[in-house]
Amino acid sequence: MSMGWMRMRAFAVAGLACAVAAGCAVNPVTGRRELALVSEAQEIQLGQQSAQEVAQQIGLVDDAALQQYVDGVGQRLARASERPNLPWRFQVVDDPTPNAFALPGGFIFVTRGMMDLMDSEAELAAVLGHEIGHVTARHSVSQISRGQLAQLGLGIGSIFFPEAAQTFGGLAQTGVQLLFLRYGRDAERQSDELGFRYALSEGYEVREMDDVFASLLRTGEAAGRSELPSWLSTHPAEPERIAAARARADTVTRAPLQTGRDAYLARIDGLTYGDDPRQGFFRDGVFLHPELRFRIDFPQGWRTQNLPQAVNALAPQQDAALQLTLAQGANADDAARRFFSQQGIRPGQGGRQNVNGNPAVVAYFQAQGQQGVITGTAAFIEHGGRTYQVLAYAPAQRFAQYEPAFRRVIFSFGDVADPSVLNVRPNRVDVVRTTRQMTLAEFNRQNPSVIPLAELAILNQVEGENAVLPAGSWKRVVAQ
Ligand SMILES: [Zn+2]
Repeated sequence: MSMGWMRMRAFAVAGLACAVAAGCAVNPVTGRRELALVSEAQEIQLGQQSAQEVAQQIGLVDDAALQQYVDGVGQRLARASERPNLPWRFQVVDDPTPNAFALPGGFIFVTRGMMDLMDSEAELAAVLGHEIGHVTARHSVSQISRGQLAQLGLGIGSIFFPEAAQTFGGLAQTGVQLLFLRYGRDAERQSDELGFRYALSEGYEVREMDDVFASLLRTGEAAGRSELPSWLSTHPAEPERIAAARARADTVTRAPLQTGRDAYLARIDGLTYGDDPRQGFFRDGVFLHPELRFRIDFPQGWRTQNLPQAVNALAPQQDAALQLTLAQGANADDAARRFFSQQGIRPGQGGRQNVNGNPAVVAYFQAQGQQGVITGTAAFIEHGGRTYQVLAYAPAQRFAQYEPAFRRVIFSFGDVADPSVLNVRPNRVDVVRTTRQMTLAEFNRQNPSVIPLAELAILNQVEGENAVLPAGSWKRVVAQ
């Protein structure tokens, strides 16, 4: 795999005019010949591998009807594109942050948070069309870098300290955001144009694109400028770009165009909104998992991160880390054997333990990190038919200082019986029709949401609580 990415990088550097006959290809969008060190087959293979990692790392929304719907919209747009024969795939990833991104070869992802925020099929088509444009114009092939690839491996087997610290380098930059390829301004403009063309060719109301930008802008403003949704911050919504989108839309004389609002809202009715606590959540420094029915305490003040395949925590001074994962192996002994048989791991003292009634193996280990020797405690704990692995580690010279905290974490692992944890439910979007003309505030009194009014206004793409909603309009409520 790494060889493939090396070639990609070479392509990025050399993606200029094509001077040599060998290794040239016609750009499907511009029709110009350019250097193509990556063949289409390689591009597809790279995209496929990365897409699998995305599905594993972030997870897909478990809703077959919704996935089918999004894929259907995407497929129709892709068929109208310059590369109709790529193995196009459109999927919704289970991430609450509004975002969308394209991988080489036609693997497009839109987040659950983005689905929550949009309110028509035309908006979805605008977003998917834009991402398709990055693939058809080969931006995603030429821009992907080795560093971005390295970050795809986040959370998996990152047992060495410096790598773990890097993982936390910017906590805001985790998950989907890492995967978002940053393209140049010209590439964004080109994708806007291409997306517009694809959406229009399928008869979508192209004026809806503005609403996506507006919603993302409001979300960003509400969160503070530092937390602009990345689809927006990596897709700078400069006034010029929005104006260009409007100008393009104004030239359209074709009518009628479809918004597909009812179809879209019917699909997102009931969709999870915000974080999904069923997948584990933190409460006062305790990690609680309602499905797997366990709890484990993390040290106060540590930065934590709940990923589908790992729960990570980093000390405030960034010199110690903890990682909880499912272990490989039939039981604690087997899991420990596998762990200690890895190259580069030196087992230390340890043995069987009882962790709150759960059979476990707890032992020291040492490993060579990039910046010196790492000392750690590894625990393998059986619980509910599974074995969990807790790795707690620090540079060798700091280990003694952290060891008591590490032991407290490991020996806090136990059952959870609290019904408020076991029965926790995610918030969800409910689509409700207004019975008469009313303000958003009135609507909220009639159909109470569990989120603040300001957030509800953003979700419903209206200015604020005094915005007037026409009778018979579909609006979204966030319920428990
Ligand atoms: Zn883009």
